[in-house]
Amino acid sequence: LTKIREGKAEILVPDPKEYEKEDKFDPSWAPVFYNPRMELNRDISVLFLNIIRPRRIVDALSATGIRGIRYFKEVKGVEEVIFNDLSKEAIELINENIKINNVIGEVFNKDANSILYEVKADFVDIDPFGTPAPFLLASFHSVIRGGYVGITATDLSALVCSSKSSARRKYDIICDRLSFSKEVGIRGLIGKAIREAAVVEKAAIPVFSFYHDYYYRVFFKVEGGAKKADSLLSRLVYYYECPKCGYRDKSVYYQHVTCPKCGASMKAYGPAWDGEIYDKNMINKIKEELVHFNYLSTYSTISRLISLISVEAEYKEPYYKLDFISPRLKRNVPPKDKVIKCLKEASATHFDTVGIKTNKNFEEVIECIKVN
Ligand code: SAM
Repeated sequence: LTKIREGKAEILVPDPKEYEKEDKFDPSWAPVFYNPRMELNRDISVLFLNIIRPRRIVDALSATGIRGIRYFKEVKGVEEVIFNDLSKEAIELINENIKINNVIGEVFNKDANSILYEVKADFVDIDPFGTPAPFLLASFHSVIRGGYVGITATDLSALVCSSKSSARRKYDIICDRLSFSKEVGIRGLIGKAIREAAVVEKAAIPVFSFYHDYYYRVFFKVEGGAKKADSLLSRLVYYYECPKCGYRDKSVYYQHVTCPKCGASMKAYGPAWDGEIYDKNMINKIKEELVHFNYLSTYSTISRLISLISVEAEYKEPYYKLDFISPRLKRNVPPKDKVIKCLKEASATHFDTVGIKTNKNFEEVIECIKVN
């Protein structure tokens, strides 16, 4: 074991040196999982929790306990954290780590779904290996009305539809890979969460979502009521995109669609959430909160990410990928800034370095690519 510091927590983690193979180390090779690449995920979660101020938290897949420990130490008003992991080794480490950090909490060695049916909390964190899908229903069951659920998904190959069969199995999504796949993927994830919450007559409203590195993170506000759940469900769609000319459309139905512009057969992805993926008020609050967190080593990365998100949040439609559309117009890929200037109401996007977000229509986007 070795001691590391992250945020305001000091914790014991498996020593990477002991588990490296040929000078390489993957956190999943150690008996208990700790991934420094997820620090930004945890940092943003700390910021978010300081806004929603939960008192009782369930960290349903704790590993070393780093998340719950940081929430206890860095979020104002947390009274208790419930830690849980299926692995015995993880439990031993969590117990040591919460002692070192003087955390008030309970530690369970159960399947996450089992603990989530036993306890209630005002924030539930689901941070699994790969897909959060198997834990969604139980997390919406566990969270109190008006509480929040945070989920991480690292199985982007399923969500962006690189693997159609995994998308179908894990998320009940029928899909082709679309050019704006990174945004469609997070919308597919949100769509699945909304459907699972609806089963227990709850509305899972996405209030802050982002893509970073190799994962998605989404925070939902969970409200009670079948009517509210129905209204979210009514905003699930299938996105359609023409692989030949780039034209796009959407519909609540899954069907074979012929491109109205060029007659090619359109690709499809859905069901996916077509509503807002951020609450603008929440973005502003996160920005305000960030100034108190200049001790975070990811401070400047988070600052850039939040600034970009606060601009792109003005534009609801999924981004246009310039290096997908330009060749279809037999044009070179124009500089992003020029297209944004030409469209006037448009922005870059954190989802894709060659993507632009705008509420202008397809023809207007095409015109601005052509003139630049
Ligand atoms: N949240 C941790 C962090 O921020 O460092 C990382 C969690 S790690 C990605 C996933 C953890 O889930 C592993 O420690 C694993 O033992 C545990 N796990 C896997 N399946 C589980 C299940 N069904 N119930 C509870 N824990 C499970």
